[in-house]
Amino acid sequence: MQQEMKIDIPYGRPMLGDEEKRAALEVLSGPILVHGPRAHEFERNFSRVTGAEHSVSVSSCTAALHLCYFYLGIRPGDEVIVPAETHVATAHAVELCGGKAVFVDAERRTGNIDIDQIESKLSERTRAISIVHYLGMPVDMDKVNEIARKRGLFVVEDAALAMGTYYKGRHAGALGDAGCFSFYPVKHMTTAEGGMLTTRHREMAEKVLRLKAFGVDKAMHERTTPGVYDAPMLGLNYRMNEIQAAIGMVQLNRMPAFLAARKENYDALSKFLREIDEIHLFQSTHGDFQSSYYCHAVVLRGSLADRKAEVVRHMKSKGVGTSVHYPKSVPQLGYYREKYGYRPEEHPVAHWISEGSIALPVGPHLGVEDMRRIADTLKSAISEVNR
Ligand SMILES: *Cc1c(COP(=O)(O)O)cnc(C)c1O
Repeated sequence: MQQEMKIDIPYGRPMLGDEEKRAALEVLSGPILVHGPRAHEFERNFSRVTGAEHSVSVSSCTAALHLCYFYLGIRPGDEVIVPAETHVATAHAVELCGGKAVFVDAERRTGNIDIDQIESKLSERTRAISIVHYLGMPVDMDKVNEIARKRGLFVVEDAALAMGTYYKGRHAGALGDAGCFSFYPVKHMTTAEGGMLTTRHREMAEKVLRLKAFGVDKAMHERTTPGVYDAPMLGLNYRMNEIQAAIGMVQLNRMPAFLAARKENYDALSKFLREIDEIHLFQSTHGDFQSSYYCHAVVLRGSLADRKAEVVRHMKSKGVGTSVHYPKSVPQLGYYREKYGYRPEEHPVAHWISEGSIALPVGPHLGVEDMRRIADTLKSAISEVNR
């Protein structure tokens, strides 16, 4: 009989407890499932925690990104700078509006966008610059904002993995013009599906409130006469419901504990990983750059990268779950490769990361003792493959 080792160190696991269950049940016991007070309270709490001037709850990070470009009126002919190494949603949001995602390669040091290459990709058609805080490591936002300011461009932060990311003491999502967060199950906190759009611009927050609910001119609570409203603009249905918001508020309160556990795990794993010569490690927290420690990515060196699948399979057979961020650089994903004909050599660092990296878990579902096992398992997987 074939023995299938069960994954006892999973890559991610939502951290939902009794308090979240109570909060969700309370919503289900009442009459208000959407358009209620909890979503607004969650938004206020989120602004307080992140220092964002305005927060608008939405149904996902992808919805937040789409709303940014919908709000900006991105249309065919417009271009937006997008990092080559990110989740496909960062680019899809631009293309959904008819705009063109113009990719900029990553830097080897952190995996973040190579800021020095941004200016050479700007054109008269560029409307915005988007960045992603790769795996929670902050981008040098002063430099990005400076480039944007000179050209009058809008800055979008994809902060999906950046709950707890700080740059010069300020939280991600409050550093550019707008920020987009994800509460997908294996992110830093979860509402099952869900997201938050933050912005420094009041008029954007007010407009997005309309755009995320069909573009109608009066929110539910503003309708003095029931059924009397107009739709002066196009809009979507990207609201967050009350169950999600209730869970989100509990999760937000637990964030300090989640982050402390991630940091402890990350630091322990870093120490163990430094004993392994065959891997490249990214630079993490230092000085003004505070990571949110989403995971610990390692890049297999040299020809070992070609045998990544074997390393990953070996780790899985020993019960250690891994992931990859991201399976391909975005320009190499089918839609973009076919549309624009990109070759891997055009974004060599992003390609190198996608081909050779393995993401190791450090989430709060794990403890320091698991970190030793993750490192040992990686080590034995590498020697197994090298044999
Ligand atoms: C997860 C993720 C997204 C998508 O988030 P959803 O909430 O699932 O839409 C976007 N960008 C990055 C960087 C992500 O990691």
